[in-house]
Amino acid sequence: MRQNRLSMLQENQLVSEYSSCSNDELVKKYKISKTQFRNICKRKKLKTKNISSILSKKKELNELDGICGIYGIVNFSCTKIYIGSSVNIKKRIQAHTRDSMFFTQDDHYVILIEECGEGSLLDRESHYLSLFDKSCYYNQTFQNAIPDYNAIFSKIKEGLKIKNCGCWEYKNIPKAGGYIWVSYNGKIYQSHRISFFANKYYTNSHINHLCRNKKCCNPDHLEETTASKNTEYYHLQRNILERSRLFEHIDFIQKSLVDRKTMSYIANTLGISVSAVSRYVQLMLREGVLFKNETGYYVVTPLASASSP
Ligand SMILES: [Zn+2]
Repeated sequence: MRQNRLSMLQENQLVSEYSSCSNDELVKKYKISKTQFRNICKRKKLKTKNISSILSKKKELNELDGICGIYGIVNFSCTKIYIGSSVNIKKRIQAHTRDSMFFTQDDHYVILIEECGEGSLLDRESHYLSLFDKSCYYNQTFQNAIPDYNAIFSKIKEGLKIKNCGCWEYKNIPKAGGYIWVSYNGKIYQSHRISFFANKYYTNSHINHLCRNKKCCNPDHLEETTASKNTEYYHLQRNILERSRLFEHIDFIQKSLVDRKTMSYIANTLGISVSAVSRYVQLMLREGVLFKNETGYYVVTPLASASSP
């Protein structure tokens, strides 16, 4: 690679961009060697970057509902950060707190680093993941924490129901986004992910349900997918619900069912037929925004209940 000797002007520009770009980005942008870069840092007395440069005000979970972008989970001493991206940050963080990792609210808080469009999520995430020294991030640690999925799958097998449609459902009630979770050694895991790891291979990527039944953990019904493909799928699913004119009443219908109101009560209130309500309720059940619990009463996912009045 041809290397530049930087002019005074270029050097000053580099200094002004120092805190907002990663070292690698700057080396690339100014076409200089790493040694040149280190020398400039020394000469200009630039401090090693730490996460304080991107810290912002603490956010409450509800402020992040429906927000698409990059978030950080920071320890109170502001020395370490977990960086993630999601189309709905609140939902993702709720999943984290139920996932194998986690941070308790007493020693960590959440910040919104940047709002961005879905298309640039992965780019912006990797930008922030390259900004600091590796020791500042939790991310690596968590990627390495691979659960003992064979042992966990043995537990799933013991409580597995095989449906006529071929779906496998673990006995637990679905939660957190409509998935079924299994507890193991004090931590909980999504049953479909564990089944995929145990029967196919381990991956950090999203796992998609080909059968569109989020409760299912039949490995033949699962495929690895990218985050952006998964987002597409999420929107497809929302579209199915949105296509109905009843979508504007979705909160009302959910709330009524959870309050144990009858379908004819809902139909009368909305001035429509009972069968129209029933069809939409079937759709809501199928799309995972509504569930029946063990005793036959309707319950909603944490995501859906958060959007109910
Ligand atoms: Zn299935």
